[in-house]
Amino acid sequence: DPAVTLSLRLLPYSEELWLLVARDVSRLLQLEQMRRDFVANVSHELRTPLTVLHGYLDMLDPAEQPEWAPMIDEMQRQSARMAQLVEDLLTLSRLESRAELPNDEVVPMAGMLAALRREALALSQGRHEIDVVDDACVDLQGSPKELHSAFSNLVANAVRYTPAGGRIRVSFAREADADGGVGVALSVTDTGYGIPATHLPRITERFYRVSNSRSRESGGTGLGLSIVKHVLALHQARLEIRSEVGSGSTFSCHFGAARVRTRRPLEHFA
Ligand code: ADP
Repeated sequence: DPAVTLSLRLLPYSEELWLLVARDVSRLLQLEQMRRDFVANVSHELRTPLTVLHGYLDMLDPAEQPEWAPMIDEMQRQSARMAQLVEDLLTLSRLESRAELPNDEVVPMAGMLAALRREALALSQGRHEIDVVDDACVDLQGSPKELHSAFSNLVANAVRYTPAGGRIRVSFAREADADGGVGVALSVTDTGYGIPATHLPRITERFYRVSNSRSRESGGTGLGLSIVKHVLALHQARLEIRSEVGSGSTFSCHFGAARVRTRRPLEHFA
């Protein structure tokens, strides 16, 4: 029956016997699909009313009504946050429903790194020392929009969770991949708060946060690292997190040789 999905496990039973355990997971997969559809539909329905509210709120000028200024300011901030949340939810459901990349093309990394640098500078507003280093001088094969959203989530987190005066470094370097080929890693290192080891296994789950108050104040949506994880999976890439409380974190995206493209020399001058 094509509608039935079985999960099979082979377990050693004795010297000569193996045990085959078959579990019908069709209902589970169906429920998972319903959950995804529901989240996608709700997010989609929220988008229009939010856009309207956000648009009108943005037209209010706090300078014209000084006594309302703090309220207008807060409403604008919160509506922007809600709009970002809805966008992130939509991005995540798009990613979850895909088995393959939406686009698979050469992604010019010189431009990507320059964009990440601009974003880090804009978010940091001079509060951190920002370094972007390209030691790999190669490009990636993949989906430009998705890769950009993954990398910029890591950069935004580094800025968010690093107190003023800290250092943020984005580096792109070659390394041996799992099959001994020439892979690359894009790493974002910060000298921020760090993440306690007990939280690391769950950190890429939706809405999972180490400290709710700090994360919420920081303006994130709680979906950033889930987006990163999905984008990397679609590129057969791996996310590695190293972190130490009080000294900082490194988030590395490891890509295999199949995703590496040599850069055309002229691009350096483009
Ligand atoms: P958020 O929008 O809350 O930042 P993410 O999914 O991007 O959501 O991250 C999940 C949680 O992981 C954050 O709330 C924060 O607690 C922790 N985290 C992520 N990046 C860092 C970092 N660079 N340094 C310290 N903690 C981090």
